[in-house]
Amino acid sequence: MTPKRLAIYAEADRKNDAIAAATGLGCPTGCGACCVRTPPHVSVSDVAPAARLLVAAGEGEAVLDRARAIGAGPCALFAPGQLPGGCTVYAARPVICRLFAFAAVRDKRGAPEVAICREHAAADPDVRARVAAYLAAGGEVAMFADVQAEAHDPDDGPPELVPINEALAIALERELLRAMYR
Ligand code: SF4
Ligand code: SF4
Repeated sequence: MTPKRLAIYAEADRKNDAIAAATGLGCPTGCGACCVRTPPHVSVSDVAPAARLLVAAGEGEAVLDRARAIGAGPCALFAPGQLPGGCTVYAARPVICRLFAFAAVRDKRGAPEVAICREHAAADPDVRARVAAYLAAGGEVAMFADVQAEAHDPDDGPPELVPINEALAIALERELLRAMYR
């Protein structure tokens, strides 16, 4: 991963940790519903660091086969029971996987608003009120659009969002080809 992308991810993670520590916002252990039931759309650029990691580890072809076979189903990078979060590429996971349910978008008045995940809210019904109070008091929060724009690297692929297994397959094909010519 490039130092620039590492720094962007580290800053986003720091802000996620800040809001989590202040409000108790957090995923129930072993949840993974967003990886299985509603897998995200991501850009090829966003999933490129994970593809590089997998190819370097010799797992690129196996994961490519899995991503193609699963298609629109659960994320091919999800392994139930594996911690943290069931994600096999946790350190290199895409921006939306880092930010979903922790980062903010701007509401109609331009104020930051966190779209709290249904699973979070079901496990902790008071979390919405605590997050709203935290934001109203000026608490730190990652801004989704800013992080996504900063992390996008045009050398890694286009910014358009497609289903994660589709993006992963494109990124893996590219990394496997690069590895073949190295
Ligand atoms: S963001 Fe929501 S669905 Fe995804 S792991 Fe956390 S609680 Fe579960
Ligand atoms: S990359 Fe990781 S966190 Fe993102 S959907 Fe796949 S398994 Fe879940």
